[in-house]
Amino acid sequence: MSPKAPSFLPYGHQTIEDDDVAAVAAALRDDLLTTGPRVEAFETAFAECVGAQHAVVCANGTAALHLAMLALGVGEGEVCIVPSITFLATANCARYVGAEVVFADVDPMTGLMTPQTLQDAVDRCGGRPIGAILPVHLRGDVAELPALRKIADAVGAALVEDACHALGSRMTFDNAPASAGDGRWGDLAVFSFHPVKTLTTCEGGMITTADPRLAERLKTLRSHGMIRPPGADPWWYEMPEIGFNYRLPDVLCALGLSQLAKLPRFIERRRTLAKRYETLLTRLRPTVWIAERPPWSDPALHLMAVLIDFEAAGKTRVEVMAALKDRGIGSQVHYIPVHRQPHYAARYGVADLPGADAWYARCLSLPLYPAMDEADVDRVVEALGDALAP
Ligand SMILES: *Cc1c(COP(=O)(O)O)cnc(C)c1O
Repeated sequence: MSPKAPSFLPYGHQTIEDDDVAAVAAALRDDLLTTGPRVEAFETAFAECVGAQHAVVCANGTAALHLAMLALGVGEGEVCIVPSITFLATANCARYVGAEVVFADVDPMTGLMTPQTLQDAVDRCGGRPIGAILPVHLRGDVAELPALRKIADAVGAALVEDACHALGSRMTFDNAPASAGDGRWGDLAVFSFHPVKTLTTCEGGMITTADPRLAERLKTLRSHGMIRPPGADPWWYEMPEIGFNYRLPDVLCALGLSQLAKLPRFIERRRTLAKRYETLLTRLRPTVWIAERPPWSDPALHLMAVLIDFEAAGKTRVEVMAALKDRGIGSQVHYIPVHRQPHYAARYGVADLPGADAWYARCLSLPLYPAMDEADVDRVVEALGDALAP
């Protein structure tokens, strides 16, 4: 049985059921709490789920991004291109390895980096080597990967999908169906299992790839950079290069395995609720628009993002969010443009990215998670209509 949605509707919420709790309890009673059999079992099931050759689990999505940069050998003297509309970690991972960040603009209607905004960012790199390009599949809508791949190849950069919103997202390019993170276009893809994401391990992350050498490197870097050469003495380990402790415990992989089996049901529920939102929200046009869906995209819908013309409504976003909160409804802004964050503004100045600013001015994420029911959606849309009424 799914637990009922709480009476306050946050913008996102985990779905933990009795069998998830039982799976964790069983793992806790086993011998190996950290590096146990469920780690590889979760990786194998996850790789199969997204259609990737290899999956490497780790401590969280941010660690996954850091490991991706390390495994690719991105570092000082290089730049990484990151869309400005994303979570901080997408940009920060470049800084962790000493690379610099060049921010790309986004399409103001989709929030996604496009081939045009990427090319513009490449031009602003001033000839510096580009280590990695990190498209973000915002809300679950996948960026235009084949075109981004072409540009990455032309400049000799790796392509790393930030798929933290896109577990289970599908897309069709040239009549060929594919999944976010399946390794067809991206060298690596990263996922997060934070509680607001499509499935949770409390904290947790995953990296997928088609490249067995990268997968092996990621596993070594995840555990201190230690290797045990075949045929070495039983106590022996070596550290050819320095790594981190970014492992995910067996106990949390048990939760991941249990949650992964429910992913189709979770996604189906998100889609049903989103469809109802889309139908009901048409009556609030033209003040409220659903964020645009690219034609190739069949998203798993991590977020219910709407674009609101606050000026036309004569209300500020602060007033609208407060009015929703008074009626027991949470909402959130995804995201504040990262290029405007004090750390990056001080380091690079503030580039002119009008698409990111336009998206930021209008975006609002409404509650969407599997435990909601249809009446919850009705309540949110009614409250939003009232909050925007003159
Ligand atoms: C959640 C998220 C991350 C970071 O994941 P954590 O598991 O919270 O470290 C990175 N990028 C995006 C787009 C995210 O939504």
